[in-house]
Amino acid sequence: MKRVRDLPKLVVRSTAVVWKSARRAFIGTIILNTFNGALLLAELVVLKVVLGRFVDVGGDAPVRRLVVPVAIFVAGLAIGGVVAVVSSQLSWLAGEQVAREVQGQVGEAASRAALIDFEHPEFHDRLERTMTNIVDRPYGVVMSLSGLMTSGFGALAAAIALLVISPPLALISVLAAVPLVVVSMKVGRLTWSFQVETTENERRREYMLSLLTGKSPAKEIRSFNLGQHFLTTFRHLYDARIDRQRQLLRDQLRLTVLSRLTNAVVLGAAGGLVLAFVDSGRLTIAEAGTALAAIALLATRANGVVASLSSTYEHGLFLTETFEFLDEFASAGDHPSTVHVPPFSGVRLDHVSFRYPSGDSDAISEIDLEVKPGEIVALVGPNGSGKTTVSKLLAQLFRPSAGHMWWGSADTADLPAAGMREQIAVIFQDFERYELTLGENVSLGRIETTGDDARLRAALADADADAVGSEHGADLDTLLGPRWIGGTDLSIGQWQRLAIARVFYRDAPLLILDEPTASIDAQAEADTFASLRRLAAGRAVVIVSHRFSTVASADRIYVLDRGRIVEHGTHDALLAAEGTYARLFNLQASSYIGRPTHKETITDD
Ligand code: ADP
Repeated sequence: MKRVRDLPKLVVRSTAVVWKSARRAFIGTIILNTFNGALLLAELVVLKVVLGRFVDVGGDAPVRRLVVPVAIFVAGLAIGGVVAVVSSQLSWLAGEQVAREVQGQVGEAASRAALIDFEHPEFHDRLERTMTNIVDRPYGVVMSLSGLMTSGFGALAAAIALLVISPPLALISVLAAVPLVVVSMKVGRLTWSFQVETTENERRREYMLSLLTGKSPAKEIRSFNLGQHFLTTFRHLYDARIDRQRQLLRDQLRLTVLSRLTNAVVLGAAGGLVLAFVDSGRLTIAEAGTALAAIALLATRANGVVASLSSTYEHGLFLTETFEFLDEFASAGDHPSTVHVPPFSGVRLDHVSFRYPSGDSDAISEIDLEVKPGEIVALVGPNGSGKTTVSKLLAQLFRPSAGHMWWGSADTADLPAAGMREQIAVIFQDFERYELTLGENVSLGRIETTGDDARLRAALADADADAVGSEHGADLDTLLGPRWIGGTDLSIGQWQRLAIARVFYRDAPLLILDEPTASIDAQAEADTFASLRRLAAGRAVVIVSHRFSTVASADRIYVLDRGRIVEHGTHDALLAAEGTYARLFNLQASSYIGRPTHKETITDD
């Protein structure tokens, strides 16, 4: 929130969120709080009656005259206690309901963000702050606003009383609150800056903790004895944050002391003025007494107003960013889904370059590459040569930084990526292992057609995954992931076969397989490729692999080196050219001697 005048908009939006998600609990809390406020006053009246009658009883009135008011007073106490508990329960419930709504909104916004957004550290910082703040700030702003109203009415009443007695006194007493308001805003802004500055630190701490507590890192942490090392890093990071927090608190305290002193001096001056007015005869003693009481009341209420105002403002600062984040990603930067995506008839990269946001040079440069239905195209090249980047572009996960990508005869820049992705099935090296059931791991390939067991089993068979987990009696309903009760784990190769089954299940005209068999044994790999050949009929397949047994039979092979295509052609043509491909092939052939599956391919050539 750059300006205070944005605050009303934020309050309206926060109220709308609370109203949508927790209307009943919120109204209940307000009613019960108001009721308890009124009850407190009523109890004071009853107490006055009790005391009055007590004095009478001290004379000669019968004791039973005390019974009813005392009983009312006691009942009031009990009711007040219960109401307070119910109110705090409702408040908790409302907070949770608001959290459910807004966390869902954050999840939705994040899931709509483009893959490229995840390449920006600032995106992660914003997401982190949004996730932290979205939980209680919308509810907080509404509650502090209702606190503001309560204190505000009290302050207004005291100010009006003073105004009636003496306008200059009212003016001075109101002015006394000005430094408090100004400083409370400044204090809120300092808290905000602190949060922004320490977000990266917070994410790093969370990362260290995830290394120390996660299942996947657990084996290396133990093998390399890294626990203490990461713990020390975690503690240093926390020390840095606490140092920064101390500085924040010091700055805030300095400002608060200054504002409180000014406030006290001005209020003292108002008190002095009252005495001077009595002296000069402008005020009677009774008026002066009331004026002093009103000044004291105004000072207390003003404190309440300032506290509510400052928390409203602080929540507002945080919510501005949160709402901006939600708005930015509520409609992803994609073309509207109403734009028609033609059926797949080939995809072509035309002088395409791509640079990652954090990269200082292009990851791939001026790539020309084409894949048409019925073709198997292979990408080969050393690590870091750009194969995965090309795969992500073809999978419509990134858009080119320069050049054009054609979907049939349409420029992909004019088409919604989501619509094209509907016609693409892709598996990456770092495929996902869903800790869900075995069947879901496959059916997630096309979530809208779940429940078709025959198709699931066919996809599993094609990926040579039909026997996965069967040694433990696993079935489609078996939960995977040993973190869960009843969960089973698989070997990495078995997980990879499930991921391949997921791609086969998707049944898309363009298949992109980025090292799909890196963790799979030779026999399963050979079987998978036999299936792939059969399934590839009429489809386009792009395959990234380091194994020449896999790529040799491709219709066209592109050899990448440092982000550029250095050669392309068939296996035979590339061997004959005696370039990079031939050199790499011969290198691998010599290291594979003795492995029948590969030897066969090698001696064929
Ligand atoms: P390959 O798949 O051939 O191993 P990649 O496509 O993964 O190669 O990487 C190509 C180049 O892009 C490399 O220089 C790599 O360092 C760089 N790169 C890959 N991913 C990122 C990223 N997320 N941010 C910045 N640079 C990246």
